[in-house]
Amino acid sequence: MEYRKLGKTDLNVSRLSYGASPLGSVFRDISENDGIKTVHTAIDMGINLIDVSPYYGLTKAETVLGKALKGIPRDKYILSTKAGRYGSDFPDFDFSERRIRKSLDESLSRLGVNEVDILFLHDIEFGNLNQILEESLPCLHDLKKEGKVRYVGVTGYPLKVFTETIKQAEIDCILTYCRYALYDSSLFTVIPSLEKKGVGIINASPTGMGLLTNRGAPDWHPGNQQLLNACQKAVEICQERGVDITEIALQYAIDHPAIASTLVGTANPVNIVKNIEWAEKPINQALVKELRTLFEGIPVTWPSGYPENQD
Ligand code: NAD
Repeated sequence: MEYRKLGKTDLNVSRLSYGASPLGSVFRDISENDGIKTVHTAIDMGINLIDVSPYYGLTKAETVLGKALKGIPRDKYILSTKAGRYGSDFPDFDFSERRIRKSLDESLSRLGVNEVDILFLHDIEFGNLNQILEESLPCLHDLKKEGKVRYVGVTGYPLKVFTETIKQAEIDCILTYCRYALYDSSLFTVIPSLEKKGVGIINASPTGMGLLTNRGAPDWHPGNQQLLNACQKAVEICQERGVDITEIALQYAIDHPAIASTLVGTANPVNIVKNIEWAEKPINQALVKELRTLFEGIPVTWPSGYPENQD
């Protein structure tokens, strides 16, 4: 496993990392034992960054992850969780200082740790950016001083939220998702400004939240029908060639030197082994080129959050 420095932090994160949202049964009902085994396998095979949120499975993912981490030495993993998002609709977001503090204390208790390495504000496009800058981020910096959090960052879908945030505030890292994947690599447009400020980049969802898997996207996937159809076509092309679409999707998403780590989610111990092995193998560039043509000229993004926060 290769390790990369995350921005200006002292965190050396594995190039492939573990996203724990599936532990909250967000893609399918999972077996808790399998989920726990998946976490142990990931750590045993060299993954050291684990990401979660109270939102995933409405606290279930943090609870299962807490069970999995019990007894594992704290220096074996780098842990990130989030605050601010507690459901799917606008009223389920709360970026107030009071809620962030309560949320972090609850997360620490579920996870069974005294501090997290990174605390992210979760999907800030659903918040008011003025509040994020004037109340939420200062609160995160206070939590850093208080020793409950080592580094701070924001997550979101529209790329604009990152450029706006780094223009006006100090953050250590960002977590972006679905913007550096086979069907949409627009993250590259904001990489130079993030790098210039020394902001670490964590990329998530190499399969586009299930789009680029043989099982396909879950019902709640926000992608439009044209995108879903093109991804289905990509799956079929790979099946004809005897290649697993997830192998290509994963190898593409992790193949950018500016991205410190890419989070992949699974609650299947067999799949985490495959993912780690695939990450070490060279990518089939000819197949990537062919698959990427399927997404030319179709809308590959979707709205997320308030209109003023869209790209
Ligand atoms: P992903 O692209 O990692 O896809 C997960 C899906 O792919 C699941 O259905 C899983 O079963 C399947 N999968 C994984 N490996 C597979 C394999 N080898 N074969 C077949 N199927 C496989 O999407 P994700 O889980 O949404 O993203 C990864 C993590 O990134 C999340 O768990 C979360 O921690 C983080 N994330 C954060 C945000 C945010 O902060 N806003 C958004 C998205 C993701």
